[in-house]
Parts: sequence; structure tokens; C-alpha cells
Amino acid sequence: MSEGCTHDCSTCSQKCSEEKKDLRLPQNEYSNVKKVIGVVSGKGGVGKSTVTSMLAVAAQVKGFQAAVLDADVTGPSIPKAFGIHDRAEGSEQGLFPSDTKLGVRIMSVNLLLDQEDAPVVWRGPVISGVINQFWQEVMWGDVDYMFVDMPPGTGDVPLTVFQGLPLDGIIIVTTPQDLVTLIVKKAYNMAKLMNIPVLGIVENMSYFECPDCHKKHEIFGESKIDEIAKELEVPVLAKLPIDPKTASLVDKGAVELADTKIFEGIIDALEK
Ligand code: ADP
Repeated sequence: MSEGCTHDCSTCSQKCSEEKKDLRLPQNEYSNVKKVIGVVSGKGGVGKSTVTSMLAVAAQVKGFQAAVLDADVTGPSIPKAFGIHDRAEGSEQGLFPSDTKLGVRIMSVNLLLDQEDAPVVWRGPVISGVINQFWQEVMWGDVDYMFVDMPPGTGDVPLTVFQGLPLDGIIIVTTPQDLVTLIVKKAYNMAKLMNIPVLGIVENMSYFECPDCHKKHEIFGESKIDEIAKELEVPVLAKLPIDPKTASLVDKGAVELADTKIFEGIIDALEK
């Protein structure tokens, strides 16, 4: 690899030994997924799964066929947010995704475990293998938008997912706290290394709006997201409030009843 390598082999004339092989896995004959968008976060608990679910609901509400591939295998929360507790079914050709009430198609390890509260104590390569199987062995049908709830962090498993799934782009979810700059930059750099476009950043739990006086309070401190986004030259797709109503709907398995207006705006931005 030469000095000053940008990792963008498509614009480089050098034939260096580290030229990247395309490791992306093909779809099966029962799937026609048009756009695959990874939802990533530098750490757990920032609302990545909530944002993933809401994006899928918003896309479905807007008339697209949406799907969620739950790649957060050790902390799968997608089926619970949609209130799905059935086991996934399969045939000789592959696995069928489960349909939510609005018709979003989902696949998660929680739909395969005998007991949904059983811990997943698998090692990295097994987890990565399961995620690849969700892509290759699930019969997704025609899907306009697939949102992938990515494993948190920038370790071995997310790296394999970045390599294996044909991601059209990623959305970074973060919260306004001290380490955010570092965390966002790590996720950004990982995507860049893999030549995957960063579609934008969603700042979750950005503020709390007082229901009485409508004043906005920055509970977790002053947001630095505009500065970071400017530096990285990526858009801020949304700043989401702390919203006990959405949190309670997610906890009750009724995410599809939440207000998706802000997320429909993100889908509009993705369509441009
Ligand atoms: P992650 O996938 O990053 O681990 P989750 O989406 O599971 O995070 O969210 C963690 C918890 O925070 C959940 O209980 C969820 O309901 C809650 N939560 C997420 N976003 C918000 C928000 N904007 N306002 C209030 N609670 C939220």
C-alpha cells in the first residue's frame, strides 16, 4: 500500500497488493432488495434499534416496502419493538421473514430461538455467520428499503457485516455526550475504509421539550453534532427529542403507533 492511500481503489491506478476484494454476498433468487442501509452507533443504548424501527415504519407508511435485518445479534430488540413473538418459519428454499402489522418484513435471531429471553453467547465468527445467513438464506421478496440494525461498536462483528452486506450507505446514531466526537469519527472512518457512503447522522435524545412551556432543554449537554457533521461533510438528518411516548410504545411492542413525521423526512432526504 502506498503512502497517502485513500483506500479508494476505484480511483487509484496503483496495483498494490492490498487492493480490496469485493467480499459482498449476493442475494438469493427469492430476494430483490433495492436499498440496504446500515444503522450504526459507536456504543449501545443510544437508540439505534429505535431509530432503525422508526425508519422502517416511516418508509412503510410512505408506501415503500420496508424490511429490517436485525444484525444486533447479542442484543436483538427489533421483534420486541414490533410486538412479534412467533417463531420464523422456513421451507426447503429458505427462511420466511416475519411480517409486522403494517407489513414490514423482519428477521432476527429472536425469531429463531426457542426461548426469546435466552442469551446469545456465541463468538464473533458464529455471529457474523448468522448475519450473513439472514442476508443470503431469508426469502425477502421485493423490498425497497432494508434497514440493518448493526451490531454496536467498530469491532470484529460490525467489520464483517460491513464487508459482507451490500450496504448502500450508513446512518450514524448518536447522543449529545462527551465522547461523541470520537465515537462518530470512528464509525465514519470505518465506513470510509470500506468505501461505504455515510448518508448522515441522527442525534437522538438531543433535547427535552417541556410539555407546558415548550422550552427545549439540552439534558445531556450542549449538542456538538453540527460542528462534527460540518467537519465530516455529512448531513445531520434529524435531532430527535427525548420522547417518553415513543419509548413506551417501543417497550410495549407498538412502535408502529409512534409518530413517524421526523423519520418520513429522513426517508424523503434518502430519496433525493
Ligand atoms: P440501542 O439499540 O442503541 O441499544 P435502543 O433503541 O434499544 O438503543 O434504546 C435504548 C432505550 O432508550 C430503549 O428503552 C428506548 O425505548 C429508549 N429510547 C431510545 N430513544 C429514545 C428517545 N428519543 N426518547 C426516550 N427514550 C428513548
